[in-house]
Amino acid sequence: MSKEKQFVKEITPQSEDFSRWYLDVIKKADLMSYSPVRGCIVFKPDSYEIWENIQKELDGRFKETGHRNAYFPLFIPESFFQKEKDHIEGFNPELPWVTEAGGEKLEERLAIRPTSETMVGHMYAEWINSYRDLPLLINQWANVVRWEKRTQPFLRTSEFLWQEGHTAHEDEADARRETMQMLDIYKDFAENFLAIPVILGAKTPSERFAGAVDTFSIEAMMKDGKAVQAGTSHYLGTKFAVAFDIKYLDRENQHQFCHTTSWGVSTRLIGALIMVHGDDRGLVMPPKVAPTQLIMIPIGPPKTREPVVARVNELFQQLKKAGVRVKVDDRADQSPGWKFNEYEMRGVPIRLELGPRDMENGQVVLVSRVSGEKKMVAQEHLVEEVQNMLAEIHQQMYDKAKQFRDDNFSSVDTLDEFKAFLEEKRGFALAGWCGSAACEAQVKEETGATSRNIPFEPAEHKETCFVCGDKAQHTVVFGKAY
Ligand code: AMP
Repeated sequence: MSKEKQFVKEITPQSEDFSRWYLDVIKKADLMSYSPVRGCIVFKPDSYEIWENIQKELDGRFKETGHRNAYFPLFIPESFFQKEKDHIEGFNPELPWVTEAGGEKLEERLAIRPTSETMVGHMYAEWINSYRDLPLLINQWANVVRWEKRTQPFLRTSEFLWQEGHTAHEDEADARRETMQMLDIYKDFAENFLAIPVILGAKTPSERFAGAVDTFSIEAMMKDGKAVQAGTSHYLGTKFAVAFDIKYLDRENQHQFCHTTSWGVSTRLIGALIMVHGDDRGLVMPPKVAPTQLIMIPIGPPKTREPVVARVNELFQQLKKAGVRVKVDDRADQSPGWKFNEYEMRGVPIRLELGPRDMENGQVVLVSRVSGEKKMVAQEHLVEEVQNMLAEIHQQMYDKAKQFRDDNFSSVDTLDEFKAFLEEKRGFALAGWCGSAACEAQVKEETGATSRNIPFEPAEHKETCFVCGDKAQHTVVFGKAY
């Protein structure tokens, strides 16, 4: 792409063209670059730092619940994929293959991992002997490749970064407990760290992970009403254990197959948080994940500059010591107005302004990115004020996103009603479903929307299928998805 095309002068308003808005924002905020390889992006430092913050937080939660990190190879022999029929059927179209290495044709093709159940299964069969080895709780931070037909920066890329948890258990009850525990961790993380409200539920069979007995997801609504599957947790039953011979000797000295799980979130979360919180001025970063939480801008005429900058630097040290991710922009060759716009566009949650008059009064001005609210605070209480304001901003962002989702959530009884809803408005709808794949396929065919999940806590229970009118087996959330 030419330099010209990479450069964004004005951000397209969301109401005019949401996709354009998204691409404008991520380029202008310097989060990524397109690479010469189709569907693969470069994570520039500001987006990579968001990912590092996500990693740090999640990694802590995984470790608290007894998981340890390990690393498995990138290349997976073709024969591994042939062992679990549903898995290969699902992933085959997206697999890239290495057929030649070191100048020679390989005897067996190697897939570049799209996910690691097969490699992990092979290793777990070696590692697990007795019930004393269980549960085995491992997570991997890695890159994976899925040759996606449609791609969108962060949300759906051909190569992406993620974590994949893989656990093995004695029985179904323990494995299902793990599956739910990880889904709950994802929910808590999405809501309390990223300020993204999510819907927990089970995927319908057609949307399940290839090879899973049950897939559960957290689903989020973007500002254009579309859905993002923000994380998944799978109960794999004994399917991979049978395929890879993962067995253990139980307390009665009998061989038993393990019950396994897997669960993952990816760099898609970066796209989700941009689309949930961003506005026409650019990014809006939830404070807990923001690379910079507070930007300090000294203001005033050149003659008072020196003492103002010195005071800013003192306050900077105090904030830094208290653990606030803070930066100072004291460049003399950019005006304060330019800087205000720049950091607003980059979504920095709080701006601190300090000028000569504030010096005299022992105050600073704090400005919230999300509400625009300006607050004068005493310098002596700065750390506390900033910490409170960051917590407040998180809550406001969550509430705002939840309000948006609630405002764009409908309930429908017929397919025609659903079509009318999608035409007039946008968003998700709760509908009854008889359980047939044909009805689900018809919805997709006629509206482009898919079942998002079968929520654990629907606002109401539907009696009839909104497509065929038969008795409903489930109440399902439908919506168009990224
Ligand atoms: P899965 O192994 O298919 O359950 O995927 C785990 C998670 O990775 C999903 O819930 C998505 O959030 C994410 N994911 C799947 N495919 C992609 C992709 N092409 N790009 C980015 N994230 C993805």
